Amino acid sequence: MRGWDSLESPEKVGESHMIIVMRSSATEADIKAVAEKVSGLSFTPHVIEGVERTVIGVIGDGNKDPIKSFVNLDGVDKVYPVSKPYKLAARSSKEEDTVVNIRDIQVGGDTFVVMAGPCSVETPEQIDTAAKAVAEHGGVILRGGAYKPRTSPYSFQGLEEEGLKLLREAGDKYGMPIITELVSVDTVDKVVEYTDIIQIGARNMQNFPLLRSIGDVRKPILLKRGLSATLEELVMSAEYIMSGGNYQVMLCERGIRTFEKAYRNTLDLNAVPALKGMTHLPIIVDPSHGTGRVDLIPTMSKAAVAAGADGIIVEVHPKPEEALSDGPQALTPLMFEQLMKDLKPFVEAAGKKLVVLK
Ligand code: PEP
Ligand code: MN
Repeated sequence: MRGWDSLESPEKVGESHMIIVMRSSATEADIKAVAEKVSGLSFTPHVIEGVERTVIGVIGDGNKDPIKSFVNLDGVDKVYPVSKPYKLAARSSKEEDTVVNIRDIQVGGDTFVVMAGPCSVETPEQIDTAAKAVAEHGGVILRGGAYKPRTSPYSFQGLEEEGLKLLREAGDKYGMPIITELVSVDTVDKVVEYTDIIQIGARNMQNFPLLRSIGDVRKPILLKRGLSATLEELVMSAEYIMSGGNYQVMLCERGIRTFEKAYRNTLDLNAVPALKGMTHLPIIVDPSHGTGRVDLIPTMSKAAVAAGADGIIVEVHPKPEEALSDGPQALTPLMFEQLMKDLKPFVEAAGKKLVVLK
């Protein structure tokens, strides 16, 4: 009977999901031969290149118990099953931190990156002024929303393609890659055309068709935690993207909904070290949405560094009082400058390198 399938046939997990860890000395040809063998056994190979070594995820319901088919192949170090519900994203699949490359900016490993800009792109002057301030004071990636997922249908919804253009122009003018949110499967091509990083917002963390639609995109993704999502659900959503072949995923803690009303959301910094244990993906903290209060952002940014985050994403607006979205949590250029000055020693104390524009 339809609808009862999951009770009658439990999901197949475990043995059909394996990880093959290649030696650091493995050649391209070794990797290719292993991947071909995986396909030959009717599994899908996921070749995830690391800085030190490559791992190959073996995913699917192919021929049974294939471990022994791989252990003796050239270049193979270890082969083991992954028992976590998420496979490609699991730390147990890849011990090494994933480093996401955006031009010459490395996110993950021993770097700390600052992404900043307005909540929404509003006018050419607004985004230009914001971008100038971000670049001058040490931000390296420019953020700005063009398609805005607003709680109210009557609120500003974003400039759409015009916003993408303006963000691109400002990023290019000040030498920064850009990040903007994708809210619909219908606009994937358009957003990909303009942006360097695709943001999936909190409200779309479990929009599975949207996650699938970026699996075959070759641009890094910043996946934000849903307002009421568990860490496991967040990592499972990353797995959706990775299972489509896009392994350049960064996760973002942006605050969750709790009973506390003193701030917009409760920034869950437990999530940073906890996620580091669960996954090899870089973790970014958003203290702007996480608090909703400019007075809390500097402290929580430092706390994010101490917790082990790989970067922060903050909202900066030339005139927060005139912002069309999220004004109360927007830093002025002056506040951003101060934040960057204060953050530097914390980043160094955490043993990380603050990424600067070249
Ligand atoms: C944003 O970055 O402006 C945004 C809407 O974020 P979130 O999805 O975390 O609410
Ligand atoms: Mn915002």
